Amino acid sequence: MSCHDIGRGMNDIVKLVISLYDREQIGKEPAMRIIAACGDAVNWCDGNTSEAWDFVRRCRCGKCLKMIPEGQELFSLWDLPRDFIHEHPRIMEENKLAFDCLCGECFDEVIAGYNDEENIAESLKSGIREDYKGDKDRYQSEGSYPNNNNGCSWPDRPEWYE
Ligand SMILES: [Zn+2]
Repeated sequence: MSCHDIGRGMNDIVKLVISLYDREQIGKEPAMRIIAACGDAVNWCDGNTSEAWDFVRRCRCGKCLKMIPEGQELFSLWDLPRDFIHEHPRIMEENKLAFDCLCGECFDEVIAGYNDEENIAESLKSGIREDYKGDKDRYQSEGSYPNNNNGCSWPDRPEWYE
């Protein structure tokens, strides 16, 4: 049984960091590094990285950090075929990604750094679309932040803490 509480705790920090970034109170690189660290921090318990990144991973890109409009493609590195890329942590590190999901453009850029086969990024995208055709949210942006923390309501807080 994994621990969901550490993911919720880290996701709460991710929400604050991205809110500060949206208000231009924190720069892109520190925001990305803190978000990446929140994903890593779930390993202090038996947590899930996807829960730590829940606030951002289905609506923003982990490389350019842009908000991706609803329905536009947003691929997770975790959905790549195992025989193509096994080492997600290495790819995350080498590309300085904040989290695992990438817009179409950043996906192409990252994949090009690992494989120079012609049309490889497009063929991997087609594979993901095919694998999850019944579950488009898996590779398409939801366009907005989730209104809960991994299924739990956010606490009411004074604005300074948000
Ligand atoms: Zn991007």
